[in-house]
Amino acid sequence: MSDAHYETQGNTALIRLDNPPVNGLGHAVRRGIVNGIRRAEQDDSVRAVVIAGANGSFSGGADISEFGTPKMLAEPTLPTVINIIETSRKPVIAAIDGNCMGGGLELALGCHFRISTRGASVALPEVKLGLLPGAGGTQRLPRVVGVEHALNLIVSGTTVPATMFEGSALFDAYSDGELEADAVALAGQIVAEGRPLKRVRDLRVSHPKAEPFFLYARNGIRQMAGAYPAPLKCLEAVRAAVDQPFDEGLQTERRLFAELMQTPESAALRHAFFAERKTSKIPDVPADTPVREIRHVGVIGAGTMGSGIAINFLNAGIPVTILDMKQESLDRGVAHIRSVYEGRVKKGKMKQDEAEQKLALLHTATDYDAYRDVDLVIEAVFEDMGVKQQVFETLDATCKPGAILASNTSTLDLNRIAACTGRPQDVVGMHFFSPANVMKLLEVVRGDATAKDVLATVMKIARTIRKTAVVSGVCDGFIGNRMVLPYQREALIMLEEGASPEQIDRAIEDFGFVMGPLRMADLAGGDIGWAIRKRQYAEHPEMKRLVIADRLCEMGRFGQKTGAGFYRYEQGRRDALHDPEVDRVIDDCRRELGITPRRISDREIVERCVYALVNEGARILDEGIAQRASDIDMVYLTGYGFPVYRGGPMHYADQVGLMNVERAMEQFRANPHVQPGFWEPAPLLAGLAAEGKTFN
Ligand code: NAD
Repeated sequence: MSDAHYETQGNTALIRLDNPPVNGLGHAVRRGIVNGIRRAEQDDSVRAVVIAGANGSFSGGADISEFGTPKMLAEPTLPTVINIIETSRKPVIAAIDGNCMGGGLELALGCHFRISTRGASVALPEVKLGLLPGAGGTQRLPRVVGVEHALNLIVSGTTVPATMFEGSALFDAYSDGELEADAVALAGQIVAEGRPLKRVRDLRVSHPKAEPFFLYARNGIRQMAGAYPAPLKCLEAVRAAVDQPFDEGLQTERRLFAELMQTPESAALRHAFFAERKTSKIPDVPADTPVREIRHVGVIGAGTMGSGIAINFLNAGIPVTILDMKQESLDRGVAHIRSVYEGRVKKGKMKQDEAEQKLALLHTATDYDAYRDVDLVIEAVFEDMGVKQQVFETLDATCKPGAILASNTSTLDLNRIAACTGRPQDVVGMHFFSPANVMKLLEVVRGDATAKDVLATVMKIARTIRKTAVVSGVCDGFIGNRMVLPYQREALIMLEEGASPEQIDRAIEDFGFVMGPLRMADLAGGDIGWAIRKRQYAEHPEMKRLVIADRLCEMGRFGQKTGAGFYRYEQGRRDALHDPEVDRVIDDCRRELGITPRRISDREIVERCVYALVNEGARILDEGIAQRASDIDMVYLTGYGFPVYRGGPMHYADQVGLMNVERAMEQFRANPHVQPGFWEPAPLLAGLAAEGKTFN
């Protein structure tokens, strides 16, 4: 149970925070601290109090399991606890080890003295949730480390070693031995010397050139902050520490905190924070499901994806055997992997010997015999069912029982791939995104027969290689690519109706996407979308043809790789340049279609593209392809450059209001150029909108 335990050691009371995993400052812990301080005050034999954390760590801050619950705001709140500590008549010493973050650091700043191990880390990471430290951190930290250090820490939210503040008033002592024993000894010394209580609130804070400093800092922070309001509010709060008496400064901090709490940006960041934690939970696969051991990984296909995939495992210290049918492809793949490590060394991100150690874990093969003893194989060969089936038949005949057989397919039916083995329970999809060693997203595709322990193992290995793994059912394109198709379709239809590639991309990039849909298509390769369209035209003859995109592909304009697509590209460069040739193609197509171009607003562009994502997302949820709306959001935040401060398409739709989304769709339905039925709201969306509910 979470609590703060009380004991005495001689004349010193010891309050030990105990709330695994990070001693979050939940309600029971807060109450425990207050009870401990009261008890110590009432006990005449106690002369000082030490607050320490159990399990080798002081406190990671707020208890996130209480977020959004009444417990979070229940008294004693953290500011109340800090006030009771600070006004205690007996010296209170914080004994800091491991993590001292957020509310944990604010709690320590409320103590009269602080002792830290040299390995401890400190941070005020609230800005990462679009907030600022709201329990006095912005007022007390500048008083002990100075305005500039405090501002840096608060605005960046980064974690730094406690030793960075050696010589400042943040720590009174460092412990090189047993922290608790040293803290108790320090308490005895403080009492023996009759040292006065040091209340951080009473320290003076100033800056020799406050006005120009804050002006300069404001300009820098504004640039860095982009769409996020929190960093500038952090600056305002720190400025209040300099300009206002302590209690007024605290009020300013509280007001700014409350303002940030109401911003959509903070709501989105908090949503993403919790969404990320939820992705790993699979309702019918309990957390204690046994996992298979992965000591050696095989990767088949040394192309774009295979070589990137291999790097993930090498980085994690797991040996990889990469196999390709062609020696020259193998050589190219290995050369690519080598160049990635060389690049890291050149940029100073990795030491030469570390890179060599990673590369020493890489083995190559052209024969499946090398796979007799691997624990996990990831196939990344050509996107062709026949080729994949052959590979899986060979794996089935070669790999030891219990080896996990994964496919990186982006579109093919995993169940059909699994069916050509005698062990479909061991087959799973591991859909990486390009570049696979960089992109955070991993779609874990659960086939009809995929065993629970296989899923649990893949989710665990995803954490080891630092991916955000989202479970998807089997369907054409899984979660991410299935949704991107209607999104890109809308962009292409608006090209016919009157928008230019530049306008569409700019509108979507102004909304916050890393890249607009047409620049993205040029990057991915126009031929890929074209192949999908041709297949869809054949399967659904009634489907609206995307004439402009098809025409550009017929001309061999496949995007960056051919130097021309919706834009033109100069040799070796990625800048998308305007191309009058594309204007001509667009004009011709409009004429052939009998369309008189109209002015399309940026708002319409954003709504049609984003709501196309939302509607397909709702269908995906309805069909059980995604487990929860927030998983879809994570796919878009980590794999498709959706603006994080908007929280993902489903969260964004919730914020707009599903009824408003549905009404916009109604208007789009009246447009004669859209595909009939396309803007029918998904039943889930319509149902939630009617009930006034949300996806998340
Ligand atoms: P690629 O053409 O760059 O590489 C494929 C490699 O597989 C080649 O080196 C080829 O020699 C090798 N290969 C082909 N058949 C083989 C066989 N039978 N045995 C051994 N090796 C064989 O392709 P890619 O872009 O890396 O794509 C690979 C897979 O990853 C495809 O299924 C693709 O859909 C999927 N994928 C690609 C991307 C992407 O952005 N490129 C993203 C996600 C998933």
